[in-house]
Parts: sequence; structure tokens; C-alpha cells
Amino acid sequence: MRRSLILVVVSVAVVAAAAVACRLARPLPPPTMVLLVLDTVRADHLSLCGYGRPTSPVLEALAARAAVHCRTYAPGSWTLPSHASFFTGLEPVDHGAHAITSGIDDWSGMGSRSRPLPDGIPTLAEAMAARGYQPLAVSASPVVSETMGLMRGFEASTVARGWGDLYGSAVAAAVADLLTEQADDRPLFLFVNVADAHQPWAAVPAGVDWLPPRPPLHWNKAAPEGPWQRFVEGRMAEDEAAALIEHAVDSYDWAVYLADRSMGEVLAVLEDKGLCEAGCRVVITSDHGEFLGEDRLLDHGHELGEANVRVPVLVWDSRPLAELPSFDESSMSALEVYDLVLEGRRPAQARRASSMAWPHARRCKHVDGLAFCSTSAALWEGDERLLWRDGVTSRGKVVGAEVKPAGGPFEEHPSAARLSQLAERVHRDTRDDHQVDQHVTELLEALGYLD
Ligand SMILES: [Zn+2]
Repeated sequence: MRRSLILVVVSVAVVAAAAVACRLARPLPPPTMVLLVLDTVRADHLSLCGYGRPTSPVLEALAARAAVHCRTYAPGSWTLPSHASFFTGLEPVDHGAHAITSGIDDWSGMGSRSRPLPDGIPTLAEAMAARGYQPLAVSASPVVSETMGLMRGFEASTVARGWGDLYGSAVAAAVADLLTEQADDRPLFLFVNVADAHQPWAAVPAGVDWLPPRPPLHWNKAAPEGPWQRFVEGRMAEDEAAALIEHAVDSYDWAVYLADRSMGEVLAVLEDKGLCEAGCRVVITSDHGEFLGEDRLLDHGHELGEANVRVPVLVWDSRPLAELPSFDESSMSALEVYDLVLEGRRPAQARRASSMAWPHARRCKHVDGLAFCSTSAALWEGDERLLWRDGVTSRGKVVGAEVKPAGGPFEEHPSAARLSQLAERVHRDTRDDHQVDQHVTELLEALGYLD
């Protein structure tokens, strides 16, 4: 299966090369544009980005004809704020679709303060439609939904009702089904969220030569004596914790491999339907990563650690003469996927690599952990991170998945004031009295975010 997908990808390039050669004398039609979000995929667990396990053979095959960046930072710490940023080109503090919970001083009605993307903000899908594209969407994440305001502008969409509904080959099948809605007279803009790397993680079957077999894994975060709470509170014996992390890493790596494979199947559908004959441009990223024991955390959505917010970006184009963006080794904002899709290039002025996270009231209340109660904002420049957390600032150098204290006092960094201004706004937002949205609350409750 893996080899055939790679061959499909390569054959798309060959067919497109021939097509380009025949059409040099005529203006080229606009390419099919695809924004593909690999939910929950951290950069450093991709073989694409140098990881030791072969977790991403399809991405690696694409990389032969792609621009790749592995030091990109997601604007939000979980699905809703990051997707709202991809769809608006705005940081979470500006679009406002981010707070699972806020008003940390007042526990009453905490679930009712979540906010969808507000109606008045223009979306990427609307902008692509204005440029003549037909925007269609398939989301395997039930969070990336109409309820959250994230389907605004898409002419038709298919969204999973629960985790796991569109994992594996089901996401490519959903894309194939949705493409029956495709218009003949307009080029396609397709958004796809591939969620296999998001829990619940599938069992690792026997016979995988780079992993031991493992049972399925799904954290029950509400159980006081379950492994998730005992681990994050430091109430787990060292050997049990080590075994838990080994299991989590193996399960996660397999889930990333499955996400890569599902993505390959989606691309194969485009090829089968002839949608790359006039050219295909595919922008791939992730909305956040996943803690696998770093900072004594599991899951995502909390601290702005590398494990949680460092993601990949890959831009692949089937047209051999198409210009690809140029990336350097410096930190980059994943917000740039908005420009990479809409304008086909990076913005003239690089966007600041920022990320922000708000308190999670339920976890703050039930779990003894600073991470869940904190408001944070971070900036990355070069290989340095500036962090503001509840008014405490720090400056450090990124080394692998860790940030080590380095670089001198925070206040002496040229961007210290810039981060403080951003953090001030992020902090103020935590105190805002948000409007109640019953539909959002009900969806988050159904998905296990609230209780
Ligand atoms: Zn996500």
C-alpha cells in the first residue's frame, strides 16, 4: 500500500510535467489547491524532519518535489484556535475562537464561555471563492465543524461526528464522495483534516518491524486514579511512568504513520479523479503537537512547549516549473499557511512566530498542575523562545524538544516588549465575560472536553 501511494505521487508529477510541456504557449489554468492539516502531528516525530522511526514515508516521497520546514510554530495550542488562525490569517487573540474556558476566578458556567469563530471575520474559503475557486472541506476532527464557525465559506463539507469516524481509509472515501459535488467550471480548493494522530490511538498490530505490538490507547482524563491524572500529578512510580511513556510513544508514532498513510490515500483520490492534470498545489501542516511525557504532561492544549506547538510545513506542487516557497532554518509561524494557500507564497514580511494558550478550567480545578491554570504567550526568533506565563517571563534556547535557559536576561531581548504587549492582550482576554453559546458547549461536552 505504501509503495503504491508513493508511485501515485511520483506519477502525478510526471503526468503534470507532460501537461506543462504541451501548454507552454497558453496561459496555465489555476491549479487545484489543497490545504491538508495533519491533526496532532509534532514535527520531531516525523521521519520527514529527521526522526529515527519511519513514521512518514508519504511525506518523504513528496519532499523530493517540495519545500519543507520543520521549525514552524502553531498559533494555538489545540485544534480550534489553530484552525481558526489557518482560516483567517489572524492570531488567536485577534480572531477570538479559542477559549474552552476562561474567567478563571469564576468556576460557574465555565463550559459556556467557549467561543466559535465570530461571524464577521472573513475566511480563507470565502477569499478563495472570490478568486473563482470552489471551496470544499472534509474534516476528520469533529472540532473543525460548522458549530465552531469553521465551515463558513465552504460550499459543501463532510465533518466527522466523533473521534475515529473518519480515520484510516474513511477520510479518503469521504473526499471521494464529496468530490461528486465538484463543479466543472471552477478550480477546486479542498481543505482536509486528517486526524489519525489524535487520540483514540489504534492498536499497533503484530508484524510491524519498527514497533512492538501495543493495545489501543485513550486517556481517560476525568478519572482521578487513571494513568493520565496520576502521571501529570507525579503520583506514578518511576517504572510505571517509564512503561506508560514507552506505550504512548509507540502508539503515537504508529498513529502518525497512519495519518501519513491516510493523507497519501487522499492525494491518490485527487489523482484518480484527474484533479492534478492541470496542476495540484498542496500545503500541509499541523494544528498542534502532543506531549509525550515532556514537562510532565500528556495530551495537548496546555503549555507552549516544543512538543505541543512545533509542527511541520510542506508545500508540494505537481507542476515542475512551479515556484516553491523558500524556507530557511529560522523559526516560522504556521499562520503563513494562510498566505501559502491564498497568495501561493510567503508574505513579504514574515509573520511573527507566536503561540498562546489559555487556562483549562476543568483541569485546573480537578488536577494539581500549574499548566492547566496558566495563561501563556510565546515568541520564537531564530532558535530562541521568549515565554510569558502568568506574568513570569523567561528566555531560552530550543534544543530538540527542550528549551534550555540561555541568551541573557529576558528584558534585554529586542522582542521582550513585543511579547509583553501580546501577553497583556492574551491575559485580558482570559478575563473577558464571553457570550454563552449553547451549541458549542454541547459539542465540547459530547467530545469529552467539558463535563
Ligand atoms: Zn487538533
